[in-house]
Amino acid sequence: MRSKIVAGNWKMNKNAEETEALLSELAAKLPDTNAEVMVAPTFVNLAGAVRSLESSVVKVIAQNMHFAENGAYTGEISADMLLNIGVDTVILGHSERRAYFNETDEILAKKVAAALDKNMRVMFCFGEELEDRKSENHFNVVESQLKNALFSLDASSWSKIILAYEPVWAIGTGETASPEQAQEMHAFIRKTITEAYDTSVANDVSILYGGSVKPANAKEIFGKPDVDGGLIGGASLKADDFVAIIEAI
Ligand code: PGA
Repeated sequence: MRSKIVAGNWKMNKNAEETEALLSELAAKLPDTNAEVMVAPTFVNLAGAVRSLESSVVKVIAQNMHFAENGAYTGEISADMLLNIGVDTVILGHSERRAYFNETDEILAKKVAAALDKNMRVMFCFGEELEDRKSENHFNVVESQLKNALFSLDASSWSKIILAYEPVWAIGTGETASPEQAQEMHAFIRKTITEAYDTSVANDVSILYGGSVKPANAKEIFGKPDVDGGLIGGASLKADDFVAIIEAI
Protein backbone atom coordinates (compact mmCIF):
# COMPACT_ATOMS: atom_id res chain seq x y z
CA MET A 1 0.00 0.00 0.00
CA ARG A 2 1.38 3.38 -0.96
CA SER A 3 1.31 6.32 1.39
CA LYS A 4 -0.57 9.58 1.01
CA ILE A 5 1.77 12.54 1.27
CA VAL A 6 1.36 16.29 1.49
CA ALA A 7 4.65 18.17 1.25
CA GLY A 8 5.34 21.89 1.41
CA ASN A 9 8.17 23.20 -0.75
CA TRP A 10 9.06 26.56 0.77
CA LYS A 11 11.61 27.36 -1.95
CA MET A 12 13.70 30.47 -1.14
CA ASN A 13 11.22 31.88 1.39
CA LYS A 14 11.16 32.45 5.17
CA ASN A 15 14.08 33.57 7.33
CA ALA A 16 14.91 31.85 10.64
CA GLU A 17 12.24 33.62 12.71
CA GLU A 18 9.59 33.22 10.02
CA THR A 19 10.47 29.53 9.72
CA GLU A 20 10.03 29.04 13.46
CA ALA A 21 6.74 30.93 13.46
CA LEU A 22 5.27 28.98 10.56
CA LEU A 23 6.37 25.64 11.99
CA SER A 24 4.89 26.30 15.40
CA GLU A 25 1.61 27.48 13.88
CA LEU A 26 1.55 24.39 11.68
CA ALA A 27 2.33 22.05 14.58
CA ALA A 28 -0.45 23.65 16.63
CA LYS A 29 -3.05 23.45 13.86
CA LEU A 30 -2.07 20.11 12.34
CA PRO A 31 -5.18 18.01 11.75
CA ASP A 32 -5.39 14.29 12.43
CA THR A 33 -4.40 12.59 9.22
CA ASN A 34 -3.14 9.31 7.85
CA ALA A 35 -1.06 11.21 5.32
CA GLU A 36 2.63 11.88 5.78
CA VAL A 37 3.16 15.61 6.16
CA MET A 38 6.50 17.10 5.11
CA VAL A 39 7.99 20.57 4.89
CA ALA A 40 11.09 21.72 3.02
CA PRO A 41 12.54 24.94 4.46
CA THR A 42 15.76 26.42 3.08
CA PHE A 43 19.09 24.79 3.90
CA VAL A 44 20.09 27.34 6.54
CA ASN A 45 16.91 26.68 8.51
CA LEU A 46 16.83 22.89 8.21
CA ALA A 47 18.62 22.02 11.45
CA GLY A 48 16.47 24.45 13.43
CA ALA A 49 13.34 23.06 11.81
CA VAL A 50 14.31 19.50 12.75
CA ARG A 51 14.74 20.61 16.37
CA SER A 52 11.43 22.50 16.43
CA LEU A 53 9.53 19.55 15.03
CA GLU A 54 11.18 16.94 17.26
CA SER A 55 7.90 15.99 18.90
CA SER A 56 5.76 16.46 15.80
CA VAL A 57 4.84 13.97 13.08
CA VAL A 58 5.70 16.61 10.47
CA LYS A 59 8.91 15.61 8.68
CA VAL A 60 11.58 18.05 7.57
CA ILE A 61 12.96 17.39 4.10
CA ALA A 62 15.57 19.13 1.91
CA GLN A 63 14.99 20.93 -1.38
CA ASN A 64 18.16 19.69 -3.07
CA MET A 65 21.58 18.11 -2.54
CA HIS A 66 24.77 17.44 -4.45
CA PHE A 67 25.77 14.02 -5.76
CA ALA A 68 29.35 14.07 -4.48
CA GLU A 69 30.12 12.65 -1.03
CA ASN A 70 32.17 15.69 -0.02
CA GLY A 71 35.03 17.82 -1.33
CA ALA A 72 35.66 20.91 -3.42
CA TYR A 73 32.10 21.84 -4.40
CA THR A 74 31.70 25.38 -3.10
CA GLY A 75 28.16 26.17 -2.08
CA GLU A 76 26.92 22.60 -2.13
CA ILE A 77 25.43 20.22 0.47
CA SER A 78 25.93 16.44 0.66
CA ALA A 79 23.64 13.58 1.62
CA ASP A 80 25.74 12.90 4.73
CA MET A 81 25.33 16.50 5.89
CA LEU A 82 21.56 16.20 5.60
CA LEU A 83 21.49 12.86 7.40
CA ASN A 84 23.76 14.26 10.09
CA ILE A 85 21.14 16.86 11.06
CA GLY A 86 18.27 14.38 10.90
CA VAL A 87 17.01 14.96 7.35
CA ASP A 88 16.55 11.70 5.43
CA THR A 89 14.41 12.81 2.50
CA VAL A 90 15.35 15.11 -0.37
CA ILE A 91 13.47 16.73 -3.24
CA LEU A 92 15.38 16.27 -6.49
CA GLY A 93 14.70 17.49 -10.00
CA HIS A 94 12.40 20.39 -9.23
CA SER A 95 11.65 22.29 -12.42
CA GLU A 96 13.28 25.43 -11.00
CA ARG A 97 16.49 23.46 -10.45
CA ARG A 98 16.24 22.14 -13.99
CA ALA A 99 15.48 25.55 -15.51
CA TYR A 100 17.70 27.94 -13.52
CA PHE A 101 20.53 25.67 -12.36
CA ASN A 102 20.92 23.51 -15.44
CA GLU A 103 20.10 20.24 -13.76
CA THR A 104 19.88 17.69 -16.53
CA ASP A 105 18.47 14.18 -16.41
CA GLU A 106 22.07 12.95 -16.29
CA ILE A 107 22.93 15.05 -13.22
CA LEU A 108 19.65 14.02 -11.60
CA ALA A 109 20.38 10.34 -12.17
CA LYS A 110 23.63 10.85 -10.24
CA LYS A 111 21.87 12.73 -7.45
CA VAL A 112 19.20 10.05 -7.14
CA ALA A 113 21.87 7.33 -7.02
CA ALA A 114 23.85 9.26 -4.38
CA ALA A 115 20.78 9.74 -2.18
CA LEU A 116 19.72 6.10 -2.47
CA ASP A 117 23.25 4.97 -1.76
CA LYS A 118 22.86 6.67 1.63
CA ASN A 119 19.45 5.11 2.09
CA MET A 120 17.65 8.44 1.79
CA ARG A 121 14.16 8.83 0.36
CA VAL A 122 13.93 10.84 -2.84
CA MET A 123 11.00 12.97 -3.91
CA PHE A 124 11.66 13.11 -7.63
CA CYS A 125 10.03 15.96 -9.56
CA PHE A 126 9.38 16.04 -13.26
CA GLY A 127 6.82 17.41 -15.70
CA GLU A 128 6.37 18.92 -19.12
CA GLU A 129 6.50 22.54 -20.21
CA LEU A 130 3.62 24.37 -21.84
CA GLU A 131 4.99 23.90 -25.39
CA ASP A 132 5.23 20.16 -24.78
CA ARG A 133 1.57 20.00 -23.84
CA LYS A 134 0.50 22.23 -26.72
CA SER A 135 2.38 20.02 -29.16
CA GLU A 136 0.93 16.93 -27.45
CA ASN A 137 4.38 15.77 -26.55
CA HIS A 138 3.76 15.75 -22.80
CA PHE A 139 3.60 11.98 -22.39
CA ASN A 140 6.89 11.53 -24.25
CA VAL A 141 8.62 14.20 -22.18
CA VAL A 142 7.46 12.70 -18.89
CA GLU A 143 8.39 9.20 -19.99
CA SER A 144 11.89 10.26 -20.96
CA GLN A 145 12.43 12.22 -17.71
CA LEU A 146 11.51 9.10 -15.73
CA LYS A 147 13.50 6.77 -17.92
CA ASN A 148 16.68 8.86 -17.92
CA ALA A 149 16.83 9.47 -14.19
CA LEU A 150 15.11 6.46 -12.62
CA PHE A 151 14.68 3.43 -14.83
CA SER A 152 18.14 2.01 -14.28
CA LEU A 153 17.37 1.63 -10.57
CA ASP A 154 16.75 -1.82 -9.11
CA ALA A 155 13.11 -2.56 -8.38
CA SER A 156 13.97 -2.68 -4.66
CA SER A 157 15.17 0.96 -4.72
CA TRP A 158 11.68 2.12 -5.62
CA SER A 159 10.51 1.74 -2.03
CA LYS A 160 12.60 4.88 -1.42
CA ILE A 161 11.13 6.87 -4.32
CA ILE A 162 8.24 9.32 -4.19
CA LEU A 163 7.23 10.85 -7.52
CA ALA A 164 5.98 14.42 -7.91
CA TYR A 165 4.42 15.19 -11.28
CA GLU A 166 4.58 18.95 -11.69
CA PRO A 167 3.60 20.36 -15.08
CA VAL A 168 5.84 23.42 -15.41
CA TRP A 169 3.00 25.53 -16.81
CA ALA A 170 1.07 25.06 -13.56
CA ILE A 171 3.84 25.96 -11.10
CA GLY A 172 3.35 29.28 -9.37
CA THR A 173 1.13 30.44 -12.24
CA GLY A 174 -2.23 30.02 -10.56
CA GLU A 175 -3.09 27.70 -13.42
CA THR A 176 -3.72 24.15 -12.22
CA ALA A 177 -3.93 20.99 -14.25
CA SER A 178 -7.54 19.88 -14.13
CA PRO A 179 -8.14 16.86 -11.89
CA GLU A 180 -8.74 14.89 -15.11
CA GLN A 181 -5.43 16.01 -16.62
CA ALA A 182 -3.62 15.06 -13.41
CA GLN A 183 -5.32 11.67 -13.25
CA GLU A 184 -4.61 11.00 -16.94
CA MET A 185 -0.89 11.69 -16.47
CA HIS A 186 -0.63 9.83 -13.16
CA ALA A 187 -2.25 6.77 -14.73
CA PHE A 188 0.18 7.07 -17.64
CA ILE A 189 3.11 7.24 -15.19
CA ARG A 190 1.93 4.10 -13.41
CA LYS A 191 1.52 2.31 -16.74
CA THR A 192 5.03 3.36 -17.78
CA ILE A 193 6.47 2.04 -14.51
CA THR A 194 4.54 -1.21 -14.90
CA GLU A 195 6.11 -1.67 -18.33
CA ALA A 196 9.61 -0.88 -17.06
CA TYR A 197 9.25 -2.93 -13.85
CA ASP A 198 5.99 -4.56 -12.78
CA THR A 199 2.61 -3.75 -11.25
CA SER A 200 3.83 -4.05 -7.69
CA VAL A 201 6.49 -1.34 -8.17
CA ALA A 202 3.94 0.81 -10.02
CA ASN A 203 1.18 0.36 -7.45
CA ASP A 204 3.40 0.93 -4.43
CA VAL A 205 4.95 4.25 -5.49
CA SER A 206 3.24 7.42 -4.27
CA ILE A 207 2.67 9.90 -7.10
CA LEU A 208 2.07 13.46 -5.94
CA TYR A 209 0.68 16.26 -8.05
CA GLY A 210 2.22 19.73 -7.84
CA GLY A 211 1.34 23.02 -9.47
CA SER A 212 -0.92 25.68 -7.94
CA VAL A 213 -2.61 23.32 -5.49
CA LYS A 214 -4.68 25.39 -3.05
CA PRO A 215 -7.44 24.79 -0.53
CA ALA A 216 -10.06 25.41 -3.22
CA ASN A 217 -8.88 22.71 -5.63
CA ALA A 218 -7.04 20.20 -3.41
CA LYS A 219 -9.96 17.92 -2.61
CA GLU A 220 -10.92 17.36 -6.22
CA ILE A 221 -7.34 16.68 -7.31
CA PHE A 222 -6.60 14.39 -4.36
CA GLY A 223 -9.86 12.56 -5.03
CA LYS A 224 -8.45 11.04 -8.21
CA PRO A 225 -7.42 7.39 -7.83
CA ASP A 226 -3.81 7.75 -9.00
CA VAL A 227 -3.10 11.01 -7.18
CA ASP A 228 -1.57 10.22 -3.79
CA GLY A 229 -1.11 13.74 -2.51
CA GLY A 230 0.59 16.95 -3.43
CA LEU A 231 3.77 18.96 -3.47
CA ILE A 232 2.67 22.43 -2.50
CA GLY A 233 4.61 25.63 -3.15
CA GLY A 234 2.93 28.99 -2.55
CA ALA A 235 0.04 27.64 -0.48
CA SER A 236 2.44 25.92 1.93
CA LEU A 237 3.71 29.29 3.13
CA LYS A 238 0.53 30.01 5.09
CA ALA A 239 -0.33 27.59 7.89
CA ASP A 240 -4.09 27.88 7.36
CA ASP A 241 -3.86 27.13 3.64
CA PHE A 242 -1.47 24.23 4.14
CA VAL A 243 -3.64 22.80 6.92
CA ALA A 244 -6.71 23.06 4.68
CA ILE A 245 -4.85 21.17 1.95
CA ILE A 246 -3.82 18.45 4.46
CA GLU A 247 -7.47 18.21 5.50
CA ALA A 248 -8.43 17.68 1.86
CA ILE A 249 -6.51 14.43 1.56
P1 PGA B 1 3.11 26.10 -6.51
O1 PGA B 1 4.53 25.33 -6.56
O2 PGA B 1 2.23 25.30 -5.59
O3 PGA B 1 3.44 27.46 -5.95
O4 PGA B 1 2.60 26.14 -7.91
C1 PGA B 1 4.58 23.93 -6.59
C2 PGA B 1 6.02 23.49 -6.64
O5 PGA B 1 6.84 24.18 -7.28
O6 PGA B 1 6.41 22.48 -6.04
